[in-house]
Amino acid sequence: EKIQSVQDDQGKVVFSFEFFPPKTEDGVDNLFERMDRMVAHNPSFCDITWGSGGSTADLTLDIANKMQNIICVETMMHLTCTNMPVEKIDHALQTIKSNGIQNVLALRGDPPHGQDKFVQVEGGFACALDLVKHIRAKYGDYFGITVAGYPEAHPDAIGSNGVATPEAYQNDLAYLKRKVDAGADLIITQLFYDTDIFLKFVNDCRQIGISCPIVPGIMPINNYKGFLRMTGFCKTKIPHEITAALEPIKDNEEAVKSYGIHLGTEMCRKILAHGIRTLHLYTLNMEKSALAILMNLGLFEESKISRCLPWRRPANVFRV
Ligand code: FAD
Repeated sequence: EKIQSVQDDQGKVVFSFEFFPPKTEDGVDNLFERMDRMVAHNPSFCDITWGSGGSTADLTLDIANKMQNIICVETMMHLTCTNMPVEKIDHALQTIKSNGIQNVLALRGDPPHGQDKFVQVEGGFACALDLVKHIRAKYGDYFGITVAGYPEAHPDAIGSNGVATPEAYQNDLAYLKRKVDAGADLIITQLFYDTDIFLKFVNDCRQIGISCPIVPGIMPINNYKGFLRMTGFCKTKIPHEITAALEPIKDNEEAVKSYGIHLGTEMCRKILAHGIRTLHLYTLNMEKSALAILMNLGLFEESKISRCLPWRRPANVFRV
């Protein structure tokens, strides 16, 4: 089924989980075990990323197929334009279509490893907008299309002072509207840690006529170094109180994880209090923090977490 609206009819809060393709076969087996446990909590969908530069293409396609048809969760596959001539793009889209997957997160992708700037491959697309247009032109309404939104503007638009100029921010928003006007049904945001920035972004999108659901991407802090790496790469603003809370506990992994759960819970509470009923969790393939946040929010009970253990299917079903 297509995910055109992640909103629940009765206004119930719904949530979704993002995963990435692991590097080893054991990692893939573990991921499916974890995913199966997490899917027992009824996410509205789960998505699988497309490794940077197309590095995981075959594995992503295979995992997406098994998510949809063995794990039986509504699946969204990420697809980027980096190193992808249109034939490869169509191969990926035809493959998921034949496997009954109806949801794509259409992205430009980052520049290939070792390069600074995104370069359009020969016979490929220059930006996510072109990919959205292509999917709609060639596949009609078959796919539900999601695109990325950037509450602080895309990193390319962020200056050395850590913020985008008002003009760059507005250009980014106008471009996002073009992606939606070209056929995107849904926006998932880049991670953020300043909830006010996200709420302002939603408001700004509405002001310029973007009316589709905007789903906040929440990345629980699991590990101090990983948090710094990710926020550095995405040029994410880190509010002072978060830096102050993390500084004294940064070498204590358990304390950092607990703080991450606390912070994630508080961020989601504030977002939900503003009437937003959807949450997207960047799980980084870990279940504990994402589930703990949703449990703190009262979206399911702890007892259910243990009920869905242990793993029910032989792991080798998922061998790639
Ligand atoms: P675009 O929407 O094409 O935009 C990129 C930038 O260029 C924006 O600043 C935009 O304003 C500007 N721009 C582009 N074209 C125009 C134009 N015609 N006019 C004006 N401005 C323009 N990367 C992966 O490799 N694999 C993944 O699975 C993946 N998943 C992601 C999931 C989410 C939710 C998000 C937020 C990002 C993800 N990324 C992923 C990262 C993403 O590929 C990068 O952020 C990439 O640099 C931009 O992709 P995009 O689709 O946002 O690009």
